[in-house]
Amino acid sequence: MAGIYLDHAATTAMRSEVLEAMKPYFTKEFYNPSSMYQPGQEVKKKIEEVRAQIAGIIGAQPEEIYFTSGGTEADNWALTAMARTGKQKPGHIITSTIEHHAIGHTCKRLEQMGCKVTWLPVDGRGRIHIEDLKKHLDKNTTIISIMYANNEIGTIQPIDEIGALAHQYGIPFHTDAVQACGQIPINVQKSRIDLLSASAHKFQGPKGVGFLYVRKELPLHNLLEGGGQERGLRAGTENVPGIIGMGKALELAVDSLEERRKRETFLRDFLIQRVEQEIPFVRINGHRWYRVPNNINLSFRFVNSESLLILLDMEGICASGGSACNSGATEPSHVIQAIRVPDEYRYGVIRLTLGEENTLEEINRVVDILKIKVEELRKESPEYEDYLRREKGL
Ligand SMILES: *Cc1c(COP(=O)(O)O)cnc(C)c1O
Repeated sequence: MAGIYLDHAATTAMRSEVLEAMKPYFTKEFYNPSSMYQPGQEVKKKIEEVRAQIAGIIGAQPEEIYFTSGGTEADNWALTAMARTGKQKPGHIITSTIEHHAIGHTCKRLEQMGCKVTWLPVDGRGRIHIEDLKKHLDKNTTIISIMYANNEIGTIQPIDEIGALAHQYGIPFHTDAVQACGQIPINVQKSRIDLLSASAHKFQGPKGVGFLYVRKELPLHNLLEGGGQERGLRAGTENVPGIIGMGKALELAVDSLEERRKRETFLRDFLIQRVEQEIPFVRINGHRWYRVPNNINLSFRFVNSESLLILLDMEGICASGGSACNSGATEPSHVIQAIRVPDEYRYGVIRLTLGEENTLEEINRVVDILKIKVEELRKESPEYEDYLRREKGL
């Protein structure tokens, strides 16, 4: 049997239609969109079409979309730009304790540079509480940055409520929507989102391209100095094939969203149900309902996640611990710590994230293998042995 890929939150395979759409722009349509002659202007027209298309999908205006090199760049740009446009110098950022490092580490750097950063706690299922946010808001707050959906545990934040509150206080609201875009419907008008980051390779587009949406009333500092690309704010010749691929990928993702949502939710809940029924000492991390359709995050007591991931890898199953960016780390991730997973369950965390090619047969096979491997590892665990001895009253 071929390998089973269950790490779609780390990256996805491009659809063949996306590759086909990109191909001409590597070769015969290679022209620089800034060139004045006709072929260059044709390419320029094409990328402006993609800008309008992406804007339409998220409820924005074309001039509010800036192409970037991915989610990390969009996150860095949003925060550093808004922290500088503060009414007060240095600015005040409100974020959460479970953000992706592209936000978390940027906030830490801004903190070192003198910004005030408020790190909102989350509850045991990974959601911030709107009352907490309200408590920390004041007229000097320069930006609120709360992720749409978490990359490790899949929890979806109360985005509409955050947006409404931010709007009421007149404070810009940024959301890292890298895990949400293409997975769940997004509308920046309805949710009153002022800035939003997304990345193509998370929705079956190419790697190294993404976008930042910025509401046009907001002042935005430029990221890179150079030519006049991206309204003069993000210089550098456009990643034309990447942008074309991202447009195609998002179009296809949105067209198939409802169908994938149903399918992945079914497979997700089926896997969780089987695991809960058939494997003892397991914990589901994250929220049952406010959760992206493709995310499963499990903790096995008396199991070390790295050992389990190696055994799964040997069976051809690609899964991950915390997030891909944390792989190699032996400490529980900041997200697992923030949701206060009990100590016994902190070291046996695995994340399985589904994609449209996963089948019920694969999910059954994964659970069958999990059962065997978890049991194998527990047999070697001194903690498990101690536990059994205590149970028997020895
Ligand atoms: C993957 C990811 C990023 C980083 O996006 P890149 O395009 O890989 O730089 C940022 N935030 C979240 C939530 C992610 O899952």
